[in-house]
Amino acid sequence: MKTIILATGNSHKLKEFKQIMTDYEFLSLKDIEFDEDIEETGDTLKENSKIKVDAVYQFCKDKGLNYPVIGDDSGLFINALGGDPGVHSARYAGDHEPSKDRAKVLFNLKDKEDRSAYMECTICYYDGNEYQFFVGQTHGTIATEELGDTSFGYDCLFMSDDLGKTFGQAESDEKNSISHRSRAIKQLNDWLNSKK
Ligand code: IMP
Repeated sequence: MKTIILATGNSHKLKEFKQIMTDYEFLSLKDIEFDEDIEETGDTLKENSKIKVDAVYQFCKDKGLNYPVIGDDSGLFINALGGDPGVHSARYAGDHEPSKDRAKVLFNLKDKEDRSAYMECTICYYDGNEYQFFVGQTHGTIATEELGDTSFGYDCLFMSDDLGKTFGQAESDEKNSISHRSRAIKQLNDWLNSKK
């Protein structure tokens, strides 16, 4: 089984990758004992996904671990707010506090008629030779109040067009079947399988 390093410390993401990419074994940042803070200084999801991958690839190289590395970055893009919070989704209100980020979104949208939005995920893959990028999107609208589970990011505000409910109200399998991340992971999986 081919091994890939996933540049994340998020166990939900690891699970999502494993569920879709069943022909691969994944090592997480914990598995490779990577505990540095990677600063996401890019202006786009693509830049940030590459920053993560480059940092982890270099770390692995120094340790003699020669595996491909994948990293992802995602965000919520609200049309009436010119794409905000976008690449700043994890710190829209300034201090990595999801409930404050959501309150800011609701406040900024209070006079807006257009509440359409999408979530986007960019995955970067690097094997020492080539970079490949995969982008997945999922569309919806921003609810006028929090609905459902508030434990992850904007889930309880994001009313999915596909599901007819917020991600916070959906089961994780339901969300994963149409999520921005799963759509990007499927593209990566198809591309890797086509190279076999
Ligand atoms: P990450 O870089 O993929 O962890 O995503 C950055 C931020 O975007 C997260 O901290 C969340 O605020 C937001 N986000 C990304 N994906 C989702 C999602 O599936 N549901 C809710 N919020 C999300």
